[in-house]
Amino acid sequence: VNFLGLGIHEWLNDVLERYGITEPSPVQAEAIPHLLEGKDAIAQSQTGSGKTLAYLLPVLQQVDPERKQLQAMILAPTQELAMQIVRESERYGAEHGIMTLGLIGGAAMKRQIEKLKRHPQIVVGTPGRISELINLRKLKMHLVNTLIVDEVDQVIGLGGGGDVKKIIRSTRKDRQLVFLSATVNEEILTLANREMNDLLEIGI
Ligand code: AMP
Repeated sequence: VNFLGLGIHEWLNDVLERYGITEPSPVQAEAIPHLLEGKDAIAQSQTGSGKTLAYLLPVLQQVDPERKQLQAMILAPTQELAMQIVRESERYGAEHGIMTLGLIGGAAMKRQIEKLKRHPQIVVGTPGRISELINLRKLKMHLVNTLIVDEVDQVIGLGGGGDVKKIIRSTRKDRQLVFLSATVNEEILTLANREMNDLLEIGI
């Protein structure tokens, strides 16, 4: 089955084809149809498995480029990973009118606040900086329809995971919440069971 068969729209499939991406990886084949339905999920997947596109394609397809406001947020444990996700999101979404903004520590917060005024539909960031921006009331968290936590095992390890828990709780209860993780332990499952509505386990 190809990406169209998984429910990916023509426009996005065309962009993927131009980058030589035509065959879904196993985690993509399993995750994409469920995530397109808006389901919550926890997916066990290693780097190199295609895990980024497994959640990014459903996000890009569910975002409305006509609505100039925040719609999806992606959290990552490191600045490097966050910026890598920003680049992938821009690569596949920018020409469709979807703006992605990176919000990481170690970059000027004033500039990030200026760029937020352009109303990106997707923001990707590290939990510390996202928390700071929430405290400053620069992020309208009630607008977030989808929250992805990539490498949740690492993210939870950051300062005890206080920031990510706070960020999750600042979103609406009916938003879509997705965890990606190389390893799935008791702590992650407990958090997932507490915060997710209709939890689906992928690859576990
Ligand atoms: P990730 O596991 O998300 O770090 O992805 C690893 C690499 O595989 C990235 O460079 C992706 O662009 C690439 N990739 C992801 N999915 C596919 C696919 N279905 N076909 C070919 N390459 C892919």
